[in-house]
Amino acid sequence: MKRTTYAGDVNERYLDQMVTLDGWIAKKRDLGSLMFVDLRDRAGIVQLVFNEKENPEAFQVASQAKNEFVIEVQGQVVARSEKEINPDLYTGKVEVHVQAAKILSTSKPVPFEIKDDTNATDDLRLKYRYLDLRRSVMQQGILIRNRILQATHRYLDQHGFIDIETPDLTASTPEGARDYLVPSRVYPGSFYALPQSPQQFKQMLMGAGFDRYYQIARCFRDEDLRGDRQPEFTQIDLETSFMSAKDIQDITEGLIKEVMKDAVDYDVQLPFERITWQESMDRFGTDQPDTRFGMELKDVSAIVADSDFKVFSAAIENGGQVKAIAVPNGAAAYSRKEIDQYTDYVKRFGAKGLAWLKVTDDGFSGPIAKFFKDADQAAALKEQTGAKSGDLLLFAADRAKVVADTLGYLRVAIAKEQDMIPADKYNFLWVVDWPLFEYDEGAQRWTAAHHPFTMPNEGDEHYLDEGEDPHQAHAQSYDIILNGLELGGGSIRIHTRELQEKMFRALGFTPESAEAQFGYFLRALDYGFPPHGGLAIGLDRFARLLAKRGNIRDVIAFPKNSKAVDPLTNAPTPVSPKQLDELGIEVEKPTD
Ligand code: ASP
Repeated sequence: MKRTTYAGDVNERYLDQMVTLDGWIAKKRDLGSLMFVDLRDRAGIVQLVFNEKENPEAFQVASQAKNEFVIEVQGQVVARSEKEINPDLYTGKVEVHVQAAKILSTSKPVPFEIKDDTNATDDLRLKYRYLDLRRSVMQQGILIRNRILQATHRYLDQHGFIDIETPDLTASTPEGARDYLVPSRVYPGSFYALPQSPQQFKQMLMGAGFDRYYQIARCFRDEDLRGDRQPEFTQIDLETSFMSAKDIQDITEGLIKEVMKDAVDYDVQLPFERITWQESMDRFGTDQPDTRFGMELKDVSAIVADSDFKVFSAAIENGGQVKAIAVPNGAAAYSRKEIDQYTDYVKRFGAKGLAWLKVTDDGFSGPIAKFFKDADQAAALKEQTGAKSGDLLLFAADRAKVVADTLGYLRVAIAKEQDMIPADKYNFLWVVDWPLFEYDEGAQRWTAAHHPFTMPNEGDEHYLDEGEDPHQAHAQSYDIILNGLELGGGSIRIHTRELQEKMFRALGFTPESAEAQFGYFLRALDYGFPPHGGLAIGLDRFARLLAKRGNIRDVIAFPKNSKAVDPLTNAPTPVSPKQLDELGIEVEKPTD
């Protein structure tokens, strides 16, 4: 016997044919001398029927086989009777009447049931990942990921991109996150670093003349894991020479269109919307705007500057601002208690509170309505916010950053709660014209908003000269956003040593420290580097969004858990004293 087709592909087209199938037993139903078995393979499930009278030997095999046994069967495809048809199953109009069967492999009872809506814990699923991956929903995610990859290879090859690998064992560079280090046995005390991205290598490939590079690049960042982060992740990484930012965006749009068609049969409209970073911050309070719904942030500072409500007037006096979002029909949808819960939540953004007004036919209601009795002011507020009777106005009054974070978060949270986001729409857009630097509140210093190799906007280069304020400079960088999440980003790069040195200086490097860390790269720029730029798209997030899963773990075959552990192999594990000895490493406090 040799497999003739996938179990999950057997439908009416195969009627009356003999098929040979290999797969796993997903379910058994024993009806005395009749046995029904759901046979599963990567294409899906088909119903097998074993009949003791007609095929006693095959029936015997089925009696012995249990869930998750691997079997091979040969049988005839037969139409199910009208009332037996299962419309939810691709194979639901037929069943296979088995004539011969063989057990290929047995299985112990599995630690959790192989079904889509499992309630197994994440760690149990990861420990038995090969079982978890048998679930159809997991297979779909991995298959969508594969479609993205295949379409990417095809499209980029057609557009003259060359797939070039760059090293995984490289030198530690400050790209923002902590490096994973690999000790050198040959040079005890020296370390390789795993790349946070192939950034400098792909730039040096432009210096080498390859002109259009791409790679499905594995990147490593030793960061605390939350949300969509994994210690190792994959990027669709591109670099090109002699192209403008717009050219690179156009090529990327073509790639995305191809991927969306291939992976999820979705037609995207080109070109994507482009908005500037400033506009995104002003209208949405975030640099990852979700433009699938309204409720935009409206600046009401000018209207409430002289308000008797001191929270507003004081915020403006202190150099801050007051902004609002209008929740359509929010007056009835949100009780005072629910608004109070949000008030607590937004404290994490530094907000001291959340002011609100319910909009009525003739004015406002709510605890602060007494401050907004003036008819002209009320009319101005309604006009500026677009609020109608029955809406709920939520205000933030603070520094621009706190206002943006507070209302940016609330806007999305409320839209989700109120079902305002169209579920089946994929909304791509570009955020362009970023500041070159951003202030890192945690580290209390200025850092490169994208990375240190990003080219300032034409005309902004002088801000990097000594005595000027580099933080005024904007950058030729761009992020691509999908449904309110950053999918990727890139920039035109600096390609002269002079400007790159200025950039390092603006970031606080001395000439010596820049030489120590980036000497090789600065030297490369001495030798005829073409103007170049590129971008990287986060493959894991892209696959997660297309597979409509909640976590990137679901579209990575063998991911780590939220504590950076792989429960399947137990990595990271202690190593033997001999191995440590060879590396010249002494561990102070070994974990057991
Ligand atoms: N290397 C950058 C990153 O990983 C992407 C790029 O600029 O191409 O974010």
